[in-house]
Parts: sequence; C-alpha cells; structure tokens
Amino acid sequence: MTKSASIGSANRYNEPVEKSFPQDGGGEVRVAKANLDWANLAFGYSKTDYNIRYFWKNGAWDQGRLTQDETLDLHIAATCLHYGQECFEGLKAFETRSGETVVFRLDENARRLARSCEKIHMPPVPEELFCEAVYRVINANRRFVPPYGTGASLYIRPIVIGTGPQIGVRPATEYIFMVLVMPVGPYFKTGFKPVSLLIEENVDRAAPLGVGDVKVGGNYAAGLRASLDAKSKGYADALFLDTREKKYIDECAPANFFAITKDDQYVTPHSESILPSITNKSLITLAEDMGLRPQRRPIPVEEIFEFKEAGCCGTAAVITPVGSITYRDRKAVYSKDGQPGKICTALYNELTAIQLGDAPDRYRWLFPVPQTK
Ligand SMILES: *Cc1c(COP(=O)(O)O)cnc(C)c1O
Repeated sequence: MTKSASIGSANRYNEPVEKSFPQDGGGEVRVAKANLDWANLAFGYSKTDYNIRYFWKNGAWDQGRLTQDETLDLHIAATCLHYGQECFEGLKAFETRSGETVVFRLDENARRLARSCEKIHMPPVPEELFCEAVYRVINANRRFVPPYGTGASLYIRPIVIGTGPQIGVRPATEYIFMVLVMPVGPYFKTGFKPVSLLIEENVDRAAPLGVGDVKVGGNYAAGLRASLDAKSKGYADALFLDTREKKYIDECAPANFFAITKDDQYVTPHSESILPSITNKSLITLAEDMGLRPQRRPIPVEEIFEFKEAGCCGTAAVITPVGSITYRDRKAVYSKDGQPGKICTALYNELTAIQLGDAPDRYRWLFPVPQTK
C-alpha cells in the first residue's frame, strides 16, 4: 500500500466515501482498516459506520439511504410488532488473499429473502435491489471488512419489516428493507470442535405447512425455549424432529443437519419445514465432487446410531461438527477423541478455501464488491 492518500468523491447516491489509499499499480482501492483485534472477534453485534434503509410506500421501494443511526422510529401499531411481518437473511463477505472483497452466494440469499417476503405477504425485495443494498453498505463500511487470514468475516444481516400500522389482521401498507453489517469471528469460540446435541421432542419450531421453510423471526421465537433448555443441560443446541410424526430428523435450531453414513454417503433431511440452507446446498455440490453421493431424504431418527459423522451447517459457523446426539436415554457418539471427523473437516476446508479465494471459485459463488470511487 502506498502512502498517497486521496479523498474519494461521493458516488451517484451522494454517499460519503471513506478516505482511500490507491495501491501501487492502480486497480484496487484500499481503505485504512479499523483498529480491531480481528483474530479474537466474537460472533455478535457491533456498531459499524453505516446501515442502509429502503422504504416501501405506495407500491414501490425508494432509492435507499445510508445512515449512522442504530435505532428505528417505529409506529406503535407496526405489523412487525403485532403480527410478525418480519424476515431476514444472513450472509458473509470475505477479503481474499488478493485484497478483493467478495460476498458468498449473494444471488441465492437475494432469492431466498424474496421468497420469505412473499410467503408472509410482504413486498419482495427485487434481486438487483438486494445486491445494490449489500454493495452500498459494504462500501460504506470498508474499514470493517476483516483482513484476509484473520479467520474473521463481515457478517451481513438484511431484514424486512412491516412498519405500517394495522390492528385488524392485514398486511402493512409500508415496509422497511434494511441491511446492517458487522465484523464477526467464528460462531463457536472453541473453534472447529465437535459439539453435543439434544433431540427435542416436546417443542416444535415449525409446522409442515407453516413457515419453517422461510427465514422468519417467528421460527426462532418458537424454537428458543428448546435451545435454551438444551443449553442449560450442557448441550450446544437442540435438534428438532419432524412435527407431524416425530420420526425423522428436521434441523438444528439455526442450522441444517447432515451426516456421513458408514459407506461414505452425504445425507441431509428432506423436509417441508426446514430452511433451505445455502451452506448445505454448497456442501452438497462439494460432496458430489468428492464422490460422497449426496442425498436429500427423510432421515429416521433411529439412523443417528448408524452414522459415521454428523454436522450442522449454516453461514455463521459453516460446519459445526457434531460429536454426539442424545435421543431419550441413548447417545449416538461420532467423536471419541474430541476431534472432528475426516469428511466434515475436508468439506469445511474446501468450502472455506473457496470463500477466501484460496481455491478456485469453480462454481462462481463469489461476488466481488464493486468499488465506489
Ligand atoms: C439461516 C438458517 C439456516 C442456515 O442457512 P444458510 O443459508 O446456510 O446460512 C438453517 N436453518 C435455519 C432455521 C436458518 O434460519
């Protein structure tokens, strides 16, 4: 990096652009990083410079606006407060070895958010608007993108809420689409270590024809008591069974479930009440490449005693290896020495290498963030 600082000009949105430092050789524009202990970041909220907000009114989304405000002025009868009109997304941006900032599978998250909106009768955020919002808010917070090699990433949290007032049960007539970002460390402080799960039979997080397949906050509210109960008993989280019969594995509270069978096959539940995880979808692709013959099918709970390895997957942790699952008075054990299984480790290494640009992006999963100059 050279010392020749230049002040970036405002872009077409008249947005503040950080002081930028053009590199030798031109091309990349880099920003002086925030002074943070990158390698020891927690997975949690922290304030960055800006969040971005778009308002929906009279049938259209507006131009969007960056703000430094961490709070919202909300009508006391807003539908998000009374009738749960709320959905969100979670995705990550990484700095690659070459210093580029990339967002992992941005298009997939955009489409999933639109599906979530539609299912609970909110105006879907168009894919282009979603991408623009993510790029704008990252550009406004460039100094918070964790440097390559620190193990940290920029967590991106888009959210849509009904803000218009209703007391009769009806969809709102006004909405906010917001994106906040924050640098985060690994989800589990202990790192890539197997965790124990408890199968929950007394709580349902989602109904078969309900909203379990979309990312709405209400599903988390419904599952919270199961998670907290499992945690109070010393488990990392609860594993839910299908709601109809309590016979098949559904998913973990915030993550999908997968397992490796004795004959090295990647299996993951097929269920109408689980969230289609983009991490899982990516792992299925990589598993196919590794000859693991991935399969989505109902997984009878008894089968947990047959598996060789098991894991939970989601954006936050990528893969959380599962060391044991407790079902009633029995325990299926996958890790006796506290080490993750070989296949979980290989899948984790491959996916994170792609995210960081250390392995070829052969499926075009990375979306470089265009620089605003
Ligand atoms: C977000 C989420 C996941 C993980 O999805 P990713 O796209 O991999 O982050 C899994 N289960 C539930 C219930 C979720 O909300």
